[in-house]
Amino acid sequence: MTTETIQGEDLQKISPVFGQLSFDNHEQVVFCFDKDTGLKAIIGIHNTVLGPALGGTRMWNYQSESEALNDVLRLSRGMTYKSAVTGLDLGGGKAVIIGNAKKHKTPELMLKFGEFVHSLGGNYITAEDVGMETDDMDLIRTVTPHVVGLSEAKGGKGNPSPITAHGVYMGMKAAAKFAFGTDNLKGRKIYVQGVGHVGENLVKKIKAEDAEVFISDINQERMEMIRDTYDVNIYEGTTFYDEPMDIYSPCALGATLNDKTIGMLKAKVIAGAANNQLAVEHKHGEMLRQKGIVYAPDFLINAGGIINVYGEIHNYGLDESMRRTENIYNTTLEILKQSEENNITTYQAAFQVAQNRIDAKRKEQGR
Ligand code: NAD
Repeated sequence: MTTETIQGEDLQKISPVFGQLSFDNHEQVVFCFDKDTGLKAIIGIHNTVLGPALGGTRMWNYQSESEALNDVLRLSRGMTYKSAVTGLDLGGGKAVIIGNAKKHKTPELMLKFGEFVHSLGGNYITAEDVGMETDDMDLIRTVTPHVVGLSEAKGGKGNPSPITAHGVYMGMKAAAKFAFGTDNLKGRKIYVQGVGHVGENLVKKIKAEDAEVFISDINQERMEMIRDTYDVNIYEGTTFYDEPMDIYSPCALGATLNDKTIGMLKAKVIAGAANNQLAVEHKHGEMLRQKGIVYAPDFLINAGGIINVYGEIHNYGLDESMRRTENIYNTTLEILKQSEENNITTYQAAFQVAQNRIDAKRKEQGR
């Protein structure tokens, strides 16, 4: 019997890496261990056809090594398609460090991790993700040049969230244009779920356009601060999915578009920053399409942050980052049209654009 004929848990037992559901022809998966600092990390390099694999490092208290592996495989693959659809000459990679960032992160551990990144010779470029700060990137920079997301003092671009929010705003306006015939958000009822770094910046922009904004966040104090600062409404109910609304903007967690929520959803447009919003990409993308809900693919519209750090490699400034991020409007509109013309989900349409770029480049390289 071959691994192809063995399925499910049995396959995972004999093939705990290549048999993972989220394994998708990844080029390299590197396990990093250091006894002295307690470092346990996994670097996933999904694809380097378009360029070096770039993606942040996430430090998270994973319950198991297989959970960490699954996360790095899924996230690194996502980076390949995010960069490809955005037109960047970058491949997809990501790293995870197993541990609680508040308790286990030490300068020694960060430096050791940086040495592992360096050992890959630039095939993987790291950056900030959950559990990491700009200061950590500055520290890693002392042992390897293969890191972006540095502080402005160290020649970096600083906090990526305002520019990510700008891209989400552009994607939202394009989706509104497609669904309503106008991209003017004035009077539109918009629900923003999660008002963290990106959510707050988005609220500011849509409120400035006179949208009717509702917010929710598990952090009560932050939610009240955003309400008072921007004069928006806190959603007082228990779930807002079945509230009549024009636009739902997921800016907190992934997988909020699933069997349960899509059945309830009354929004006409979905456009938000959270990664991996569709619990199951194909299935839930199709459910949204069947319901006539216009979904702006997350990996397309939340690319402002990577566009911004790409400027650290290619030496362009904020003006160029903004110009490229504004182009998310045109790309989103184009992809929504393609999905309609070809009767495919918007996710598939965006994915195809990305895959076509990779395939063309691969052919050119004779790989
Ligand atoms: P953040 O941690 O600053 O904010 C997330 C907010 O969501 C927090 O205020 C948190 O309290 C809230 N939240 C968590 N669970 C919630 C729930 N169940 N309901 C409502 N609110 C909840 O993160 P961020 O940097 O604003 O990023 C938001 C999302 O966008 C994340 O999924 C992130 O991966 C994605 N993203 C961010 C960037 C970036 O540049 N920051 C780039 C691309 C993608």
